[in-house]
Amino acid sequence: MSKYRPVIGLEIHVQLNTRTKLFCRCLNEYAPDEPNKNICPFCTGQPGALPLLNKEAVRKAIEFGVAVGATIPEKTRWDRKNYFYPDLPAGYQISQYDNPIVEGGLIEFFVEDKDNGTFEAGSVELTRAHLEADAAKLQHVGSKTYVDFNRSAAPLIEIVTEPVLHSSAQAMAFVNELQLLVRRLGISDADMEKGQMRFDCNLSLQNEDQQKNDELPPYRTETKNINSVRSLGRAIEYEIKRQGKMLDEGETPKQETRGWKDDQNKSESQRSKEDAMDYRYFPEPDLKILEISREEIPQLNNLPELPSTQRKRYLELGLSQQIVNTFVVQDELSSFFDKVLEIKSIHSKAKDKNLTLSLANVLSGALLAASSKNEITINEIIDEKNFFEMVELFDEDKINNKGVQTIIDELVKGDQKDIHKIIENKQLIQVSDTNALGEIVDQVIKENPKVVEEYKSGKVQVIGFLIGQCMKASKGTGNPKVFKVLLSQKLK
Ligand SMILES: [Zn+2]
Repeated sequence: MSKYRPVIGLEIHVQLNTRTKLFCRCLNEYAPDEPNKNICPFCTGQPGALPLLNKEAVRKAIEFGVAVGATIPEKTRWDRKNYFYPDLPAGYQISQYDNPIVEGGLIEFFVEDKDNGTFEAGSVELTRAHLEADAAKLQHVGSKTYVDFNRSAAPLIEIVTEPVLHSSAQAMAFVNELQLLVRRLGISDADMEKGQMRFDCNLSLQNEDQQKNDELPPYRTETKNINSVRSLGRAIEYEIKRQGKMLDEGETPKQETRGWKDDQNKSESQRSKEDAMDYRYFPEPDLKILEISREEIPQLNNLPELPSTQRKRYLELGLSQQIVNTFVVQDELSSFFDKVLEIKSIHSKAKDKNLTLSLANVLSGALLAASSKNEITINEIIDEKNFFEMVELFDEDKINNKGVQTIIDELVKGDQKDIHKIIENKQLIQVSDTNALGEIVDQVIKENPKVVEEYKSGKVQVIGFLIGQCMKASKGTGNPKVFKVLLSQKLK
C-alpha cells in the first residue's frame, strides 16, 4: 500500500448532438464530406457576426442537470474567454464563467473488480457543468496546417467534478457511467473516437498527514488532451508514478499543465503556474442573460430511465451484479429484457422469481454468446415472445441446457424460426422418467468402474463426468438433474 493517496478531479467535455451549432444555424454534423462545409460568418470569427443561441442545446444541458440532481439557476450568463489560437479566429470563446447553467449534482457508479467478480459502489459530486462553443480543428499535413471550421461553435457541456476520485479504476468507472448517462438521455453520442467526449485530469498526491487532516496538497497538475477511457487510466497511472517519485525525493511537484502523448504513453509539461493563462473573462456583450423559467425544467420521471435507476430495478429482481451491469451498459440487452419481463407479467408470472433469473441467465449467457460469436443482433436470432416461451420450458424442466443451446444454434442457422418446431424436429423434450433414465445410469456405472471407484473413495466431483456420460448416452435428451439424483442413490 502506497503511503500517498491520489486526489483526482476531472473536467469532461461532452459534445451535444443538437441539429445545429450552439451560436449559429450551421449544421452540427460530425465529419461532413468536406472541410469547411457547415460554416458562416459567426463560426469563422468574422468581425461583427452576432451569436444566436440554440435553445435545443440549452434544453439538453438542463436535462443533464436534472438527471444528476443538480440545481438549475433561474438566470445564467455567458462570458468571453479570451485567448489566441489558430483554431479560434475571433480570439475568444463564448463560455460560462461564474454562473453556469448546472450547479452541483451527483453521479453514482460501480467499480468492477474483475479478479473476484465484485462491484464496489462509488459516487462523484459534480461542481458544475456549463455550456460553451467548441473551437475549430487544425489538421497538420506535412509542413502545412489547415483549419477546418466544421466543428467551430459546436455545443459542448464541460462537466467539472470535485476532487473526490482516488484511483484510475474509479475515474474510469465514473467516465464510463457518464458516457452511459448522456447516451441514455440522448443528449450526446459521446463517441470518444470522434472526439465527442474528452478529458482533462487534475491530480495530486496526499501524504499521510494530509490524509489524516483531510487536507489537499499545495499543488496539482492538470493533464490535458486525453481522448479515451483507456488513455485516462494510463495518464493517471503515469502521473501517480511521476509525482510519487518526486515526493519520495523530497521535491514538491510543480503546479503545471501537462499534455498527454498517447502514442508515447507519457505526458509532457506545457506550461507552469507562473505563465498560467489569464483568460480575461468578461460578460459576453452580444448575448442576453438567459432566464430559465421553472416550467422549462423537466421532471425526472419525464426523462428516459436513468442507468442508475435501471440498475436498482434489476438488483431488486434478484439479478446478480454481473448480469445487471451487462444489461445496463447495453441498450439492446436491457430493452430486450424489459420486453420479456412485460410478456412474463402478461402470462401472470410477474412474481415467479426463478423464471426471472432463468430469463436473465439465458439472455446474458447462451443468447448473448451466440449473438457476439455470429455478429448478429439478439433480435435477429429470436424475438421476445419465442425467447420467453423457450426459457419457460427450460424453467419447467421440459428442455435442458443443451436443448436451449440446440434451439439457439438452429435459430442462428436461420432455416426454422419457430422454437416449437425445432423442439419437435430435434426431439429436445427432455426425459425425466426415472425408469428409462435408470437403465442408462446402470449402463454408465458398468462402463466406468474406475471413475465409480474414485467417487466411492470420496472424490465426489467426478459425478459431473458421470452425468456427462449419461447425457451422451441419452443423446442429450435426459434430464441431468434426474441423472444426478439416480447416480447419487445408486453409488451410495
Ligand atoms: Zn456557423
